[in-house]
Amino acid sequence: MTDHKYVYEFSEGDASMKNLLGGKGANLAEMTGLGMPVPQGFTITTEACTQYYVDGEAINDSIKAEILGYVAKLEALTGKKFGDLDNPLLVSVRSGARASMPGMMDTILNLGMNDEVAERFAEKTNNPRFAYDSYRRFIQMYSDVVMEVGKSHFEKLIDEMKETRGVIQDTDLTAEDLKELAVEFKAQYKAKVGQDFPTDPVEQLFGAIKAVFRSWDNPRAVYYRRMNDIPGSWGTAVNVQSMVFGNTGDTSGTGVAFSRNPATGEKGLYGEFLMNAQGEDVVAGIRTPETIDQLRDENPEVYNQFVAIVDKLENHYHDMQDMEFTIEEGKLFMLQTRNGKRTAAAAFKIACDLVDEGQITSTQAVAMIDPKQIDALLHPQFDVAGLAAATPIGKGLPASPGAACGKVSFTAEDAAARGKKGEDVILVRLETTPEDIEGMHYAKGILTARGGMTSHAAVVARGMGTCCVSGLGEVSFAPGGQSFTLGGKTFTSDDWISLDGATGAVYGEQIGTVPAEISGYFGRIIGWADEVRTMKVRTNADTPADARQAREFGAEGIGLCRTEHMFFEGDRIAAIREMIVSKTVEQREAALAKLLPMQRGDFEGIYEAMEGFPVTIRLLDPPLHEFLPHDEDDIVALAAEMNLAVDDLKAVIASLHEFNPMMGHRGCRLDVTYPEIGAMQTRAIIEAAINVQKRHPEWNLVPEIMVPLVGEVKEFVFVKNIITSTADAIIAESGIDLKYLVGTMIEIPRAALTADEIAKEAEFFSFGTNDLTQMTFGFSRDDAGMFLDAYYDKKIYENDPFARLDQIGVGKLVKTAVELGKSTRPDIKLGICGEHGGDPSSIEFCQQVGLNYVSCSPFRVPIARLAAAQSALKAQQA
Ligand code: PEP
Ligand code: MG
Repeated sequence: MTDHKYVYEFSEGDASMKNLLGGKGANLAEMTGLGMPVPQGFTITTEACTQYYVDGEAINDSIKAEILGYVAKLEALTGKKFGDLDNPLLVSVRSGARASMPGMMDTILNLGMNDEVAERFAEKTNNPRFAYDSYRRFIQMYSDVVMEVGKSHFEKLIDEMKETRGVIQDTDLTAEDLKELAVEFKAQYKAKVGQDFPTDPVEQLFGAIKAVFRSWDNPRAVYYRRMNDIPGSWGTAVNVQSMVFGNTGDTSGTGVAFSRNPATGEKGLYGEFLMNAQGEDVVAGIRTPETIDQLRDENPEVYNQFVAIVDKLENHYHDMQDMEFTIEEGKLFMLQTRNGKRTAAAAFKIACDLVDEGQITSTQAVAMIDPKQIDALLHPQFDVAGLAAATPIGKGLPASPGAACGKVSFTAEDAAARGKKGEDVILVRLETTPEDIEGMHYAKGILTARGGMTSHAAVVARGMGTCCVSGLGEVSFAPGGQSFTLGGKTFTSDDWISLDGATGAVYGEQIGTVPAEISGYFGRIIGWADEVRTMKVRTNADTPADARQAREFGAEGIGLCRTEHMFFEGDRIAAIREMIVSKTVEQREAALAKLLPMQRGDFEGIYEAMEGFPVTIRLLDPPLHEFLPHDEDDIVALAAEMNLAVDDLKAVIASLHEFNPMMGHRGCRLDVTYPEIGAMQTRAIIEAAINVQKRHPEWNLVPEIMVPLVGEVKEFVFVKNIITSTADAIIAESGIDLKYLVGTMIEIPRAALTADEIAKEAEFFSFGTNDLTQMTFGFSRDDAGMFLDAYYDKKIYENDPFARLDQIGVGKLVKTAVELGKSTRPDIKLGICGEHGGDPSSIEFCQQVGLNYVSCSPFRVPIARLAAAQSALKAQQA
């Protein structure tokens, strides 16, 4: 025996012990403490689960001994005994992690049964049907959960039995039938497992506990954790609880209830129950449950007792409760309570109602909402019934949230043409490029076979608020690209598909969607969040329209305007291509002269949209592979525009080919080779600011000019000199006293490591964690999707580092850069503009390291406002 305690009786714990006892265990303990009718038992801690994995997936002897000690205590407490024919102890064994993961892990009921126990149980209860029903359920669950003999083998036997007996419902099977089924089930077990079904309850118990520990790592639990930021290191607790039976007859039953409606948030008991049934019957949908109100008619006494408990629990936890209960021969037992899962709309209403009822403060309301749920309020969602009836045929990366449904379109032109006519289309591409932008605009959703969470399609789709699933490698295009296969089905432009951008699921059918709807509750919560937040929230926006959208969502400035993105629209891409392929300074200046008015106009629009809030504009950073023309038609048109022979242009394009464009001639490297680019952009930024400042004397515009991809301070100084010499001359001439800042992205590891040197010259830092992640890990943002799944499967990574900041490695660089930067410029302005700026857990990290603001795509601004508020609250509590 070690000193360490791995097992707790319910009466030894309380709700504050969630980390150790898991949510279910802690709440069973709390309800026990509140004097509620809880069938007694004990909880094996999450630490025991961790130890199980440390010990090579085995329960070590000292933990086994401790568990057996608690079995003995439970036997004493209940007056029942494992395997005792007169008074057998039967238990349920259930998982319960720190964060609730409904349905992800396993449960076993009626453990402790064997042939003799079942037989005597039948006699004693005078209810053989109940005894054998319980027994066959146990064999079935144990076989499935502990020995992984699939459920279907047993369901088949039940179906055969019903057919031979000529009955439809399970409940029409007699005690004799069920007894026979138990025999058949055990034979099935032996056939599949090669051993007899275990009769010893202790052996059954350890088998079940192991299975629950093991289920912590089953694929659906691992996936759920990745989606919900739950670390694999937490482990699950196991609750062993004495059984109460809802299936002893007509005075028994079982049910689930919520203290408020989980779909709408409406106050009032909401739930279902079934008489003469056991837990899973309610969920499995085999029989239609009754509403909880009917319990009032069937058993008013129990109903009133239950209502009183529900009230007490809500007032105790100050949150909507999701409860399981069982009635055994007219007596009520509580099996579980937890803060209930709810829709986004319900979450906001419940939080506001609880404030209005005086149950919680507005700060607590801010803290109780999952920021990720906001997505569902801002984007269309699938209608619930349609989604329930559909099965996914593939799963890619959840690149941009929302639900979308439409007919397949294979080219951006086709998507734009059909979209303009009002047709719903989904653009399906190998990957997207800037040329696709119009099609992306008109598409309801975007599906790509390649690309990661920060690939072109993902970044652009998020900016537009369009649903996108990326990196679904199983999409296989036919030669010619006019059809593709997925999940064994071939899709042409006449076929419907549906995408879930929040999960990455793809459906080969039409599923209805419901539009986004923002309620007044949302506004109240976000308002409260703004009161406690200390970090500012800016947006990544490249056009006046996106900037306006972001302002509506509450952005307090622009943290990143990607100037190359301004050329996606219409015929603008030709002008930027002309600049890229220019061979001489004259050619380049001619191209730049075309770009100048476009940029100046856009910048004016963006300053106007931002109403005096700060605007950070980044100099050009076009990864060449995204911008060079590839199609013959585009090349011919560009050659004509530039007065070049087509072959000459092709030769230039070939000479610009890069093996590794993400690490190629981009960012400030362009300004080092072609200073005229930086000069033109500075001119556009400053002239636009002067024009807008003149129109709005009440604003104090201070444009922030940002240099991308800096790795060496001299490189920064070189570009800064281009900026200041250009800007100062224009300002002097204008007669307006315009101030501006020059700063840099920190997105190359070397920049982070030499940030003290860079900060002597740079007035602000913005962390470009997309590139910083790419370069720290040494894998490409565009290609990582192809192999990251293998890393999740092998448990090397738990999350996509492009979606959730890797705080250990990349985070260390961020922290280092913050400290070094402040050491030479204490008041340096610090922000983040990589995609992590919209991810709640990464935002919390930004708060911890002391950034002044986060910047994210417009549709994530509300998420970031709430997440920043929660981070501030956590920092206050720390
Ligand atoms: C980054 O690298 O994090 C960044 C914001 O820049 P981009 O995504 O444009 O490379
Ligand atoms: Mg970058």
